[in-house]
Amino acid sequence: MIKDNLNNILETLPPELKLVAVSKFHPLEAILEAYDAGQRLFGESRPQELSKKVAALQESHPEILENIEWHFIGHLQTNKLKFVLPYAHLVQSVDSTHLLDAINAWGKSAGKKINVLLEMHVAAEESKQGFAEEEILDILFRAGSYSHINFCGLMGMATFTDDEECIRADFARISDYFAYLKDLFPELESFKELSIGMSSDYLIALEYDATIVRVGTSIFGERQY
Ligand SMILES: *Cc1c(COP(=O)(O)O)cnc(C)c1O
Repeated sequence: MIKDNLNNILETLPPELKLVAVSKFHPLEAILEAYDAGQRLFGESRPQELSKKVAALQESHPEILENIEWHFIGHLQTNKLKFVLPYAHLVQSVDSTHLLDAINAWGKSAGKKINVLLEMHVAAEESKQGFAEEEILDILFRAGSYSHINFCGLMGMATFTDDEECIRADFARISDYFAYLKDLFPELESFKELSIGMSSDYLIALEYDATIVRVGTSIFGERQY
């Protein structure tokens, strides 16, 4: 069934688009089933859950683990970096300069550059995480001071609503800002990913130049919290 879900979604996506299968709260078996169907990018949102899944795969399926690209998409506290940064190919959810500074310091001590997306706050909900436009601008003007960060683009979540016009407005705002930043900072060569769209709105996100969509429920079913 996971295989059918994946294939149905892939049929709707342009080939160059990156589909991150959001496996948070789902067991390893679900990841293995998706892997068998060809899926290689997986998204996790809780630090310990990610590191536990990596450890379990290392034990049971090291050859599979090698081929998986993990994306971290949840809120990350600076005391949890060790559960995430050794494994994540891309941290999509950087939402504060405090976190950015800590990731840069971690990268320095580990001798590696960390790929990140800056999370932009576009939703109507105050509770959602993310930077305001001018904060992102300020960070990118100082991009050169982050020796161990690769700025790879923006991530955003639309307002949780059935109102499609509202979702479109949120996606338009982040998409326009992303285009503006790419123009303004051509020297940031890796700044080319726009991660917008989840199960309920990824088809809309395609119309706003998403390069990454993050889909959980439509692949794996409802999560058991
Ligand atoms: C959980 C989550 C998703 C996936 O949501 P679905 O509605 O299950 O597709 C995508 N992005 C982020 C940031 C998430 O936390």
